[in-house]
Amino acid sequence: MASSDTLFGRILSGEIPCQEVYADDLSLAFRDVNPQAPVHVLVIPREPIAQLGEATAEHQALLGHLLLVAAKVARLEGLESWRTVINSGAGAGQTVFHLHLHVIGGRPLAWPPG
Ligand code: AMP
Repeated sequence: MASSDTLFGRILSGEIPCQEVYADDLSLAFRDVNPQAPVHVLVIPREPIAQLGEATAEHQALLGHLLLVAAKVARLEGLESWRTVINSGAGAGQTVFHLHLHVIGGRPLAWPPG
């Protein structure tokens, strides 16, 4: 389980500001500070789970909720096509150890990604 003392924990507590896009009781969505596309939003749970690989069956409903929030964010941002990415672990590029979904869109997205 993650500590709440991560960068995103500090955003959740209000210690570090963010550009909020959506919030509810379970999650927060805000703009990535280093966007990789015209729309790049991060969706995080309020519960500090370090990475997807550490989620358990008790997180099943929360994980489903986060996917629905990602789709809501895409709608709010007017995206027809978009991608969501979850980096789980440092070797996959995860740099902040508080679970987050990237919602990326607003430009053509090649597959497979680089
Ligand atoms: P990851 O590499 O999957 O762990 O993604 C972490 C993301 O957090 C990166 O895309 C960063 O650009 C983003 N990021 C880092 N600091 C901030 C911040 N203060 N506000 C918003 N996004 C941030």
